[in-house]
Amino acid sequence: MEKIDGIVKKVESNIRLISNKCEGCGREDRNTYEIYYEILDRTVRYCSECSDKVKKKANDEVKSKLYKHKCENTNDYLRDMGVSARHLHCSLDNFTAGMQYTKFCKNYLRRPDKNILLTGVCGCGKTHLAVGLGRELIKNINNYKMKFITAPDLLLKIRQGYNRDGFDEDNFIESYSKLDFLFLDDLGAEKTTEHARATFYLIIDRRDRELKPTIVTSNLSPSQIAERIDERIASRLAGGNVVKINLPDFRLKRQ
Ligand SMILES: [Zn+2]
Repeated sequence: MEKIDGIVKKVESNIRLISNKCEGCGREDRNTYEIYYEILDRTVRYCSECSDKVKKKANDEVKSKLYKHKCENTNDYLRDMGVSARHLHCSLDNFTAGMQYTKFCKNYLRRPDKNILLTGVCGCGKTHLAVGLGRELIKNINNYKMKFITAPDLLLKIRQGYNRDGFDEDNFIESYSKLDFLFLDDLGAEKTTEHARATFYLIIDRRDRELKPTIVTSNLSPSQIAERIDERIASRLAGGNVVKINLPDFRLKRQ
């Protein structure tokens, strides 16, 4: 019994010893505070003097763990964002047909604060580049809300909403306006009704005012968007980066 008591005491004193030790200075004679970091699965302990230093170190550890997790699971994040299975393989690194376009994207990522219109013929790789941008944003920016949706799907969601009780169209539009990044794929593929015009204008304009970038792909040039959809939408998009992609149709080429 004596032996067992001895061991228990030893363990208890170890717990006390460990739990009072500040991670910053290593001292055990100070009052300490603790934070449990779920992502690190451990408790971080510090004295008031070491608070900033220890928390910064823990935050750096969280960031690098998160980055590693996102690099290993980027496709899951892209899927959650709304990227279709067909485009899950797309990255800037495997867009080999136009270095100038991937270079533009990599430059943009240094300060991703403007709208982008990726325009070009069907199959030129607009969506590939957009997904590639999304992939990099996921890895490098934490806690950003992003969505990827085609223009026709967005309108469909609203139409489906009308059939649901309590659907609030303005709330719906606001939820898209508040996203940190919105990828609107294939603008111009939808039937251009007055309602479609108004919806896209509201979303793009609200986002523009809040300095939240919208990344649009379209077969249409800015002047065609002005002509066929809405002049104000064209002007918001032309105020950012317009990237004209002049590449042959890869899908046709592959067939
Ligand atoms: Zn300390």
